Amino acid sequence: MRYSQWLIPTVKEVPAEAEIPSHRLMIRAGYIRKLTSGAYTYLPLGWRSLLKVIAIVREEMDAAGAQEVLMPILQPIELWRQTGREDDYGPVMCKFEDRHGRINALAPTAEEVVTQLAAQEINSYKQLPINLYQINTKFRDEFRPRFGVLRSREFIMKDAYSFHATPECLDAGYARMYEAYSRIFTRCGLRCMVVEAESGEMGGAGSHQFTVPCENGEDTIVYLEDGSYAANLEKAAVDAVPWPADLVACRGSAGAMEPVHTPHIGSIESVCEFLGTQPAEMIKTLIFQADGDVLAALVRGDHEINTEKLSGVASGRHVELADEATIESVTGAAVGFAGPMGLAGKVWRVAIDHAVAALAVGVAGANRTDYHVRNVVGGRDYALEGDNVVLADIRNAVPGDTHAGAALRFRKGIEVGQLFKLGTKYAEALGAKVLDESGHERVCLMGCYGIGINRILAAAIETGNDKDGCILPVSIAPFEVEVLPLNNDREDVCEEARRIYEALRSAGADALLDDRPVRPGVKFKDADLIGIPLRVVVGERRLKEQQVEFRRRTDAAATAVPAGQAGEVVLRVLREMRQAARPV
Ligand code: ATP
Ligand code: MG
Repeated sequence: MRYSQWLIPTVKEVPAEAEIPSHRLMIRAGYIRKLTSGAYTYLPLGWRSLLKVIAIVREEMDAAGAQEVLMPILQPIELWRQTGREDDYGPVMCKFEDRHGRINALAPTAEEVVTQLAAQEINSYKQLPINLYQINTKFRDEFRPRFGVLRSREFIMKDAYSFHATPECLDAGYARMYEAYSRIFTRCGLRCMVVEAESGEMGGAGSHQFTVPCENGEDTIVYLEDGSYAANLEKAAVDAVPWPADLVACRGSAGAMEPVHTPHIGSIESVCEFLGTQPAEMIKTLIFQADGDVLAALVRGDHEINTEKLSGVASGRHVELADEATIESVTGAAVGFAGPMGLAGKVWRVAIDHAVAALAVGVAGANRTDYHVRNVVGGRDYALEGDNVVLADIRNAVPGDTHAGAALRFRKGIEVGQLFKLGTKYAEALGAKVLDESGHERVCLMGCYGIGINRILAAAIETGNDKDGCILPVSIAPFEVEVLPLNNDREDVCEEARRIYEALRSAGADALLDDRPVRPGVKFKDADLIGIPLRVVVGERRLKEQQVEFRRRTDAAATAVPAGQAGEVVLRVLREMRQAARPV
């Protein structure tokens, strides 16, 4: 391709909202342009890269035996109502009413659609297992679209869905996808950590997340140094905080509960400031709805409740913070003044985090508007045991926590893909059943497997860049090699550059020729910025000695090679690079 004819609008300035390197660089290098919040146009360079990502994903999915389909983005809302997921997705789902008054969803994912398809088309165990996938646009009205295409409202996902007759078959299919994912991300040049994950809205049992460790990631990975455990923050299980040796003695000698007037002071921070206490001494009392029942949860003031874990304590029910009226009727106080005293008798269940149970004496809301209480003692002032009282791990891990006795470590990362064992949730709801060998009807078991195509590219740039621009792996860079003639006015220079470029192209290298009539400095800067892995520079001075310069994007300096051998050198290095990117 000739640079002069391509739309590659590199720029120096980027909007202030581009907070992280990949977002800034994708704009600066002319890969993407924003249309509106969370929606981006891919310009020729960006799209070329994305197509390479898509080709890798497609190749590996096909090799793993999956079959590509294309499902509509437009989905009737009734399907979502059948599985009860309309409410789970809530405002994240984009919906509209058509001219006939029907509600349509714009696919945030496609479990419902594919399961309905399976219900219609698959009826015998002989048709199983089957894995259907698509590479298609998804819509999610994210609360906070940001970081460019890393978290957008419209994005491209590879979503695959497998159907099985037995749990063993699901396990095998899941393992095959796990393997395919490892190959896909390796080929895209990403180093992933695979972590155990929660299945969230998906439901089901068992999930892994492929995460690219990097500072600006929105996910937190929690792991043990020896590699024996890694999970995301939603999932990471922490050991119960050990009870201090003097716990019983401290509780015994604690004074009586002491109400304190805390007018309009409801938040943990403001209460701590007002009372001169530490968040770690506070008992945060949260009131949740769990499918119609009220659930109280106690975590320490310095800890975050984990609703996935809480849902586990609530027999897997969907949990969400209760509304104001419910909180007021349960606690008898305005929001911000809930405390654990007497709650067990008023709610369906009380979940107490281990760290709260390990507190000798705490400070809590008084269940009375504008009041808190000091000297709150577990077992004396509120129940630590009982029929509806559960001690459990219901909070996010924090530094200092352990897992299986070893210290947990924390890292930020970008989730690029996730696998789920869905079980029968969707097949049951939508009637995807087959007849087994003995003629009995069986509900299909399912797995589902997603990859964020856009995120692969953004994560590759986020982890591959320097002060001058993008550093992309050869497998997904928009071009593999760029040829730069420096002196546009010299016919011999231009002629040699064209010759090398043509030779590279006819040998199957994906080459770009920077034939623009601009200064060498501009060409160099743009070449660094757009991040093509290999570069051949043809300049008047070296050409006099029949030489050109060759440089990898990552080399500190260029090396001189005989002009006649430039093509060979590039092709050899290219072969090595392509080879290195392929897992055996
Ligand atoms: P997140 O937790 O980041 O919101 P998710 O767990 O909801 O993502 P999945 O439903 O697992 O996402 O979707 C599969 C893949 O799609 C994710 O692993 C991610 O790579 C990609 N993806 C999800 N949401 C977005 C988004 N808003 N923008 C870009 N890619 C996304
Ligand atoms: Mg996910």
